[in-house]
Order: sequence, then C-alpha cells, then structure tokens
Amino acid sequence: MAKKIETDELTGEIVTPNIEPGATAHYKPNLAAQEHNESLGFPGSKIEGWEEKAIGRMGELLSKYRSLKVYMDTCVRCGSCADKCHYFLGTGDPNNMPVARQELMRKVYRRYFTPGGKLLPGLSGAEDMTGKMLDEWFSYFHQCSQCRRCSVYCPFGIDTAEVSMAARDIMNSVGVGQKYCNEVLGKVLDVGNNLGMEKPALANTLEFLEEDVEEESGVAVRYPLDEVGAEVLLIAPSADFFSSPHIEGFTGYGKVFHEAGVSWTVSSYASEFANFGMFVGNFETMRKVAQRIVDAARELKVKRIIVGECGHAWRVGYSFWNTLTGPFDFLDPKHRTPTHICEFTLDLIKRGVIRLDKSANDDLNVTFHDSCNVARGSRMGDKPGGQFDIPRELIRSVCNNFVEMDQDTIREFTYCCGGGGGLLTDELMELRVKGAMPRAQALHEVMERNGVNTMAMICAICKAQFTKVLPSYGIGMDVVASVHQLVSNAIILGGNRGV
Ligand code: SF4
Ligand code: SF4
Repeated sequence: MAKKIETDELTGEIVTPNIEPGATAHYKPNLAAQEHNESLGFPGSKIEGWEEKAIGRMGELLSKYRSLKVYMDTCVRCGSCADKCHYFLGTGDPNNMPVARQELMRKVYRRYFTPGGKLLPGLSGAEDMTGKMLDEWFSYFHQCSQCRRCSVYCPFGIDTAEVSMAARDIMNSVGVGQKYCNEVLGKVLDVGNNLGMEKPALANTLEFLEEDVEEESGVAVRYPLDEVGAEVLLIAPSADFFSSPHIEGFTGYGKVFHEAGVSWTVSSYASEFANFGMFVGNFETMRKVAQRIVDAARELKVKRIIVGECGHAWRVGYSFWNTLTGPFDFLDPKHRTPTHICEFTLDLIKRGVIRLDKSANDDLNVTFHDSCNVARGSRMGDKPGGQFDIPRELIRSVCNNFVEMDQDTIREFTYCCGGGGGLLTDELMELRVKGAMPRAQALHEVMERNGVNTMAMICAICKAQFTKVLPSYGIGMDVVASVHQLVSNAIILGGNRGV
C-alpha cells in the first residue's frame, strides 16, 4: 500500500498541521444562485437591510428553540471541546475549534440580545452584525459538518451542530444560501431525488439490476418500481441507484426482500431518503421533503416503510418524521416508525429466514465506520445497543473477519468522514481531505495492525466522501464498502422463504 500519510517517526501517528489562525478563512462553498434560493422560498440574493432582517430571524430562532438560547448563555469556555473537531485537527485553524465556531454567533447574540452587550459591547465581547461577520459566518459555519462530536465532550451538552444549523437558516433568510444544498433541495422537491433523476432513468437502472443479478446468480430477483399494494416502500439515498459501492448495497436490499418473500417497491415520486433540509437548518424545507415520502406511501398503499443506508436521513426519519409529517396511522400499527434495513435484515438472519455463506467474504478483513448522524443523532433508545450494535452484529453474521478501530474513534466517539452536513461539494475538497484526517489515521492504524482491507459503513455521504478522499492518504478507494454489499456477497439465493 502506498503511504502518503506523513507520520511521526517515534509514535507512528499522523502528523497534524501547525496551529495557524485563519488558515482556512478562504474555504467557502459557492453561493446559491437566485433560482436555487427562490425555489425554497428564500430571497434570491442578499437583501437590502439584511443586517436587521438577520437579527430578526435570530430572535425568532432564539424564542422558538430554547436549546439555542441555552447554548448561547451556557458556555464557560472550559475548552473540553477544543480539540475534538476533525476540521480543527485536520486544518490547524483555531477558528475551527467548536467553541470558536459558536463564538461567532455568540458575539452577535450578546450585542443584540443581552443588556451588557447592548450597553457596553466592547466590555462584553459583543460585536455588530456586519459584512465582515457575515463573511466569517459563511466560511466557518460551512466548515462544520454538524457531526455533534464536540457535544459528546461538552459538560453542558452544547451542540455546535444546532448553532451551525441556525446560522445557515439565518443566512438563507437574507438570501445568502449555499449552492450545493439549495440546488439539491430544489431537485428533490421538483423531481423526487437529489440527482434530478426522472422516472425512465430510475426504471432503467432497476431493470439493469434485475438482469445483472439474474445473470450472476441464475435467480430472478425483482427490483420493483411504483407497485401499488406492495407491503414495503423502500426509501434509499439516490446514490444507491448508480454508483459504487452504494449500488452493491442496494443490490443486497433486493436479495434480502427476495429471500424473505416480502413484496416491496421503490417510488418514482419519492425516490430519495436524503433530506438536506436538516443541513440548512430549515424545518419547513425538511418537512416538504419528508412529506413526499408520506404521500408516496399513501399512494402506493404500503404497510410499512423500510429505509436504506443513509446517516443523516436516518436521523431525520427516526427522530423527526413523526413530528414533521405524522401521524403515520395509515401504516400497519406494528410499523408506524421507519425500520432500518440493517435491523430488518438482522432480524431475518436471527430467525433463520436467510441462509448465508460467510466464506464468500473471507478475502475481506472488515472494520466498521460509525456514521455521525446514526451514532450521535438517532440511537434507537428502545433497542439494546441500537444502531451501534445492529450493524456490527450484521457484519459479524455475514463475515468471518471483523476488527474494531481504536475505541476513541468508534461508536459515540466516531470521527466524521469530513463530507457531511452539506459539505460534499467539490469547491470544499481541500477542507474535506483535511477533515478526513482523524478517520484516515484510525483506519491506517487498523490496516497496519490487523491487515484490514475493508471499511464498511451505512451512510451514502460517508461512502461518497471516503472513496474520493482516502486516496489522498494512500488508501485505495476500494476499501469502502456498504454493509449490505457484504450481505449481498454472503446471501444464498433460492433458500428459505417467508417471514
Ligand atoms: S459539530 Fe462536528 S464539525 Fe461541527 S464543530 Fe462540532 S465537531 Fe466540528
Ligand atoms: S466544552 Fe462546552 S462549555 Fe466547554 S468550551 Fe466547549 S462548548 Fe463551551
């Protein structure tokens, strides 16, 4: 394996950059164009009197979300979060310390919402909302992937992700949107998926998959589209329909349904699980994206919704769908919350419905990357271990060789891939590479120690990000795998049937 990672000769650890204030101030996403902003109901471009409007929006958010006000008032600057952000560790810019990121909003909060800041701004660390401040917001609130790692270490549970969501909402409210997120959201609301893929293209992809699986296995596995009366509506991230290693995972979903004898369908109206409304911090946009899924489920008369491998979307589905678009009283009473495909598959395996040949994965030495929004945003509290244990148990069920990365980098302590939170865009590539450094370091260590050659995961953004950035660390992109790709390899088609 080529090693491009600079490591310390004595400790073997990846050399992290020197501290350099402002080193990444120039990292900015592209500004959203007028049509992208307006398609979401935001002003097309920066409005006249934006300063007053931005403060007004901040006031609305502070009174609507008590947590935001608590976060503004509570920080004691203890520094526990300072070295916990992958972007700080990867860039060396202290403005990427979570406490410094929050401080960008807190300065403005003090100036307009606290007596001390109104009367004596210079003495209370308060600052006006100026063009320079907005510029810093646009830069550093788009250098936060909203991963929530810092909140795990904060003694008060201050969640910088929520602060960054609020900042992005405020910026959108004055016409300063981020192109990637707003463009993607426009496509979902218009066509039904992030890629803008129309129904014929989707149908072709699913037909191609059917041919491919039958050619390879001799078994006619169906990948149905828009089938009214199917038991299950499968909602997957749209990356699962076209790129590797996502599509190998999607292939696995179909094989699982086939072996379970469960009828299922994809919807051409709502063919996207991702919901970037969360990244821009705007609940109305998030609700509109989620509503398409509810409408599709009603139209197709399904009994339950099963969702594919997508991190932030699982958080939205599991934690927010019911509030945003519930009640789901038209579904089977036993299945009114969405089921994660990993939970569905593991249950079938435990009940012996699916037969497996684990040796099909014997050339793989597998580790697991916990995706942030699953690990820290949506643990299934009512299930032992929730989404920390389910994917691990599933991998162990289909693979003989599994090993964990360093304990400080897994489960709730996991490091972000560096591309989450709406940052998976080419103009932020330098930031994405640097932000991936802590995870690359942990992966590199377990590759050296245990000969790991595969990192499995259950998030479309993580898969897309790692295949792109790991080569910068001398790690091949083929190390990245979908968990259901491993299931797909091991499943014996034509075995037992029926749940
Ligand atoms: S939420 Fe994640 S990306 Fe944002 S400041 Fe905290 S650790 Fe960094
Ligand atoms: S850990 Fe919490 S209280 Fe301490 S500096 Fe960070 S945000 Fe503030």
